[in-house]
Amino acid sequence: MAIIGGGIAGLSAGKFLAERGVSFILLEEHREFFKKACGEGIIRNTVGYEFHDLYGSKRGIEREIWETIIHTKYGELSIEMPVLMTSKREVEAELARQAAAQGEIRMGERVEKIVDGVLLPQEIKPKIIIGADGCFSLVRRYMGERQVRCGIAAEAYATEVDMDPDRCHVVLKNEVVRYGYAWYFPKREVWNIGIGCSKKRTFRETFSRFREKSKGEGWRGAPVPIDKPGRSYRKNAILVGDAAAHVVANVGEGIMPSMIGAYIAAEVIERLARKDFREVDLSPYERGWKNTFGKYLRRTYYTSRIFYDVIKSEYVRHKLLAKMCRDTTEYYRKILKR
Ligand SMILES: Cc1cc2nc3c(=O)[nH]c(=O)nc-3n(C[C@H](O)[C@H](O)[C@H](O)COP(=O)(O)OP(=O)(O)OC[C@H]3O[C@@H](n4cnc5c(N)ncnc54)[C@H](O)[C@@H]3O)c2cc1C
Repeated sequence: MAIIGGGIAGLSAGKFLAERGVSFILLEEHREFFKKACGEGIIRNTVGYEFHDLYGSKRGIEREIWETIIHTKYGELSIEMPVLMTSKREVEAELARQAAAQGEIRMGERVEKIVDGVLLPQEIKPKIIIGADGCFSLVRRYMGERQVRCGIAAEAYATEVDMDPDRCHVVLKNEVVRYGYAWYFPKREVWNIGIGCSKKRTFRETFSRFREKSKGEGWRGAPVPIDKPGRSYRKNAILVGDAAAHVVANVGEGIMPSMIGAYIAAEVIERLARKDFREVDLSPYERGWKNTFGKYLRRTYYTSRIFYDVIKSEYVRHKLLAKMCRDTTEYYRKILKR
């Protein structure tokens, strides 16, 4: 078993495999965790899965915030849902600690090529390859799938933000960013702020303005999938996380879908391991995630397309958002009994 990529998806796959007693090797090209930019907010409950149950630790969880305010040109909208603000670096380190119980994690090792199922230059021929290698996935290419369509986002830390620090804030105004949004997420001591945009050229124009105004420090950017999830297995390989476009496309939330996908993958792989990988059929993985969040992710993809590409009026967007906020608040109140 080999996992390529040591972000949330790969480390979660390692952790869940370790819990099931399946050995693996994980290869991550960077020497440290959290190299990729992230807003560090986790929607605690996604499609019925609880982050705490999946993660099994408190390390890196800084605080929970129940209300997010969406600022539009036409006013403020409130949405109630549980968002955990985290230190992603610590969360990744903790996942690695749990994964190491049964696996070997090699940092600073990039897989350059996969030829006939052999990872190069490592010369490892695993029974199964888990592609957790992000938006530009090598495993995805090996499977013959086209690259995931991506937008772009950038984040930084800020200390001076003139907003209520007990709420998360999202700014959806054309004058701030077209085809996307800005966020202000209060962590324990600093704010994680940033902007995300589905069009690269618009991002470049907007970003320099946003950066100047917002006084963030340590800016870094990265691609975010804005695609429908498609085929996720072929040959002896499967895809998880960004590599599989498992992202809630209308908000760019990928942490929970990555973890849930990894959980389902580990379940399927454990069954194959019990039969000593005699017949490797990975189709149950695809059925598993499709039944769990396939429809939901596709819906968020179409919502984001309609929201940014079809509806041009900010007023209509505001009205639509108001309805979405009400529905989501009602949903979380009901399932979490608040
Ligand atoms: C600016 C920004 C803000 C975001 N904010 C949020 C948020 O607040 N909440 C949320 O839920 N989601 C957010 N997301 C999305 C979320 O971060 C991702 O969806 C999620 O982290 C996916 O994790 P992953 O492990 O699939 O991919 P990645 O984190 O990209 O991990 C892939 C790993 O694979 C490694 N790798 C790649 N190729 C190779 C190779 N050939 N050999 C070895 N290693 C390789 C990379 O180094 C990397 O560590 C944000 C994304 C961005 C860009």
